[in-house]
Amino acid sequence: MHELSITRNIVAIVEEAAKGRRVRGVTLEVGELSGVVSEAIAFCFDVVTAGTALEGASLEIHKIEGRARCESCGAEFATATLFAACACGSGRLTRLHGEELNVKSMELMEAA
Ligand SMILES: [Zn+2]
Repeated sequence: MHELSITRNIVAIVEEAAKGRRVRGVTLEVGELSGVVSEAIAFCFDVVTAGTALEGASLEIHKIEGRARCESCGAEFATATLFAACACGSGRLTRLHGEELNVKSMELMEAA
């Protein structure tokens, strides 16, 4: 499962950044065109974080709208897939944004 390894990577990045401190919450940005299913990340999160500094941490996922530009007529529009067609009928689309998969922020517990 693709999202399981992605979630492992995210958890590793956050744990590294936390430098041994406990993590209370993590916010991710996931683009609609990234091919990543947010719900699957959320599902994997609890499993992957067990026994790590992120155990019990909350997870918030902000979805970023996909945007594409038509190479034929130059129109720009929101889309959740690059397999869409422009209103002009062309299928030659270039991704503008929506490919993001970022750790936007993390919240650490106060040091004891
Ligand atoms: Zn077009």
